[in-house]
Formats: sequence, structure tokens, C-alpha cells
Amino acid sequence: MARGLIAGNWKMNGVAASLTEIEAVVLGAASVDANADILICPPSTLIASAVATAGGSKLAIGGQTCHFNSTGAHTGDISADMLKENGASYVIVGHSERRADHGESSEMVKGQAAAALEAGLTPIICIGESREEREAGKTEEIILGQLEASTPDTASGANYAVAYEPIWAIGTGLIPEMSDIQAAHSAIRNNIAGRSGADAAAKTPLLYGGSMKPGNAADILALTDVDGGLIGGASLKASDFLAIYEIAGQTL
Ligand code: PEP
Repeated sequence: MARGLIAGNWKMNGVAASLTEIEAVVLGAASVDANADILICPPSTLIASAVATAGGSKLAIGGQTCHFNSTGAHTGDISADMLKENGASYVIVGHSERRADHGESSEMVKGQAAAALEAGLTPIICIGESREEREAGKTEEIILGQLEASTPDTASGANYAVAYEPIWAIGTGLIPEMSDIQAAHSAIRNNIAGRSGADAAAKTPLLYGGSMKPGNAADILALTDVDGGLIGGASLKASDFLAIYEIAGQTL
């Protein structure tokens, strides 16, 4: 079985004063007995101070993207080695907001995930369909195509995670039917098994992302092939994020 992961994506939110939320998560998570890791990915400006605040606790800190090259003329970008040097242990790659806002293709995401693995980070590879693609009955085709094109050969079993995030569910308060989430996760697990074997597929954490909140987390995390969550809005407040982690402790 894959180890669970409850991951927060702060996106472009958070200044030094927000470290109080990190402190509160560190304190609260200490008393939760969960078969799941807990992670916050703040903006890159806060990574070093978030790592210092988390200071050896069970809270891991990660980046929100990295470049596929390790150095070079890439103004504004950050490399996997830079994240690692600052104490990050994970990095989100291929979030739909990066794919849309920065034109990141699956080929680029594959390079980013490879760079993350090379640097010793755990990449969280994001995939997801648009509303139009879902309505056209193309969800499986789209997400499995993204998955295959975004996963480097060096990804195997527990050294990476996949986040299934329907684009239309991110930040909207909408979520798919539970049966649709399970169907997508099962298709992802079977696809990984077909390429990497059943053992690797069983060990790969599959996260659901898209409007996960304390009120719906129990139903989502109870699904057979859901091993955790990638959480945006509800990760900004320690109390909401901890509530989801506590639910993970009861369900995963
Ligand atoms: C996300 O940013 O990956 C996300 C799932 O956001 P939200 O939880 O706000 O929908």
C-alpha cells in the first residue's frame, strides 16, 4: 500500500507573517497519528524560513515548481537543486495553473520531474482534465496521456506521487462524483501497473486535488485508490489543513 500524503499548495499566497500558520500546523500535526505524511508547499521566498519553522518536525516543506535544467539563463525560474539546498523535500510539477499560465507541456513536466528526482526531491506530478474534456467523455484519455508523457523513466514506486486534479474542480468548490474520482484513480493505478508493474503501482501515492475541504475529505480519502490530497485554499488556514490531516489519520 502507498503511504498517504496530505499536501498543501499555497500558490502565490504567503508572506513572513504566514509562518504562524506553519507553526500551528507543526504543533497540531504532532499529536495526529496518521499513516500519512504532511507537506506544505509555500512560495519559494518562504521555503527556507518554513523549513526553519518546521525544524525537524513531521511537517515537510516543498516547492511549487522547478526548472528542468539545473542552472542557466532562465530568468525567474528556480532549480530543483536550489529547492533541495533550502531544505525542500518535495516539489509539485505540472500543476494545471503552470501548464496554463506558463505554457508547460507534459514533455517539460517530465523534465522537471526528472530534475527533481536527480536532486533528491519527491516530485508530485499533476494531471487533470478540463470541463470540456470531461463533458466530451475524454477524461481517461486525457489524464493517462498526460501521465505517460509527464513521468520520467527514473520515477518508480514510492519516489514520486501523482495528483489527479480535474481543472474545473480547482478553486471552484465543485468536485466530481465520488465514483468518478475512484474511476480516475483506478485508471491511473492500472496505467502505472501496466508500465511499471503492480508492486510499483501499489506503492505510488495517488492524491486527489480540487476543492478538498474538511467537509468532503472523509468521503474522498475513503476511496480505495485515493492515498491523499493536494489541497489549495483549505491549506492556507492551519485549522482547516489540520482537520483534513486528522481525517487522513482516521481513513488512510
Ligand atoms: C490546487 O491548487 O492544487 C488545488 C487543488 O486548489 P483548491 O484546493 O483550492 O481547489
